[in-house]
Amino acid sequence: MTTYDELADRILAGGAATAEEALAVLRTTDAELLGAVAAAARLRREHFANTVKVNYLVNLKSGLCPENCNYCSQALGSQAPILKYSWLSKDEALSQAGAGLRGGASRVCMVSSGRGPSDRDVDRVVEMTEAIKEEYADVEVCACLGLLKDGQADRLRAAGVDAYNHNINTAESNHDKIVQTHTYDDRVDTIEKAKSAGLSPCSGLIAGLGESDAQLVEALFALKDLDADSIPVNFLMPFDGTPYENTWELSPMRCLRILTMARFVCPDKEIRIAAGREMHLRSLQSLALQVANSIFLGDYLTSEGQQAETDLAMLRDSGFVILGSENDADDGDDTDRAADSVEDGTVEGTASGAHNPAIRRRGAGTEAPANA
Ligand code: SF4
Repeated sequence: MTTYDELADRILAGGAATAEEALAVLRTTDAELLGAVAAAARLRREHFANTVKVNYLVNLKSGLCPENCNYCSQALGSQAPILKYSWLSKDEALSQAGAGLRGGASRVCMVSSGRGPSDRDVDRVVEMTEAIKEEYADVEVCACLGLLKDGQADRLRAAGVDAYNHNINTAESNHDKIVQTHTYDDRVDTIEKAKSAGLSPCSGLIAGLGESDAQLVEALFALKDLDADSIPVNFLMPFDGTPYENTWELSPMRCLRILTMARFVCPDKEIRIAAGREMHLRSLQSLALQVANSIFLGDYLTSEGQQAETDLAMLRDSGFVILGSENDADDGDDTDRAADSVEDGTVEGTASGAHNPAIRRRGAGTEAPANA
């Protein structure tokens, strides 16, 4: 049997993990897991050294969505008591983006709920992007506005938008169970439109939606085939008032296995630990950064993350530096730095320590300052 170190050697030499090998990572015993993490960490270090990319979410328009994505607190029919508001003003978006950038983020992810943007909505994001770029020249702007119509990606790119996020969310074979108002092909079409316009494709998944191990592998290979530059891996936050209320399929070690598998399959891509990081990885967050290389700072779209200071301290404690603020080279010297078993594929005790998402009551759309 190939060891994980041998697998890493092969990938570093230009080879690729197979679907069977990816599946095996998801099914490692607890005793094997640290070896798999260490081998995947070699791939992470090869491509990203000791840097962590820090991203900041600005929720431009919250709730009121006509789509029925079952996992989403903003969906049609969701009773989750989230903040709901229509478009932020340009000044408010600029102010929110500034909070994240001052906190260390190098990418601002501007997100709006809805099936897709109208041309007027694209106008708004164009104006916001131009304002942000005028004030913060080096910032990367990612837009996440839903399904795109012809020409909209080109307009965003022309305005200086760098990337477009549209998640596949789950395997094609699981897609229609999680949403019925649009198709997997609709999603892929938007990712292709973004790529064609020269936008960096950002697309990822949500784990914990009832998918099988094989479907997680299927989703990762689909993202590899789509050539997504950045891959957010979300862990389902089961909001009360949504169809996934009280769905707890994940454990910290399960999440670590998923991220490790993602690194083996997509060794040179930005693997972002996204929503659900604090809730599901819990005390394994910093270990997970040995394989992943990107996080969101502060809060998520409709739920609170941990304090931004805690995130930044976690990065420093593990010897990481924020991409964009580094002298990236890892000299191995840390003196100058500030500071459930799934062996058999079943998850046990996953609700242990779980808690419901804390609804976001600060930042965009509120009077309270952003958590960054
Ligand atoms: S389209 Fe977006 S905002 Fe609307 S329900 Fe789906 S995930 Fe939520």
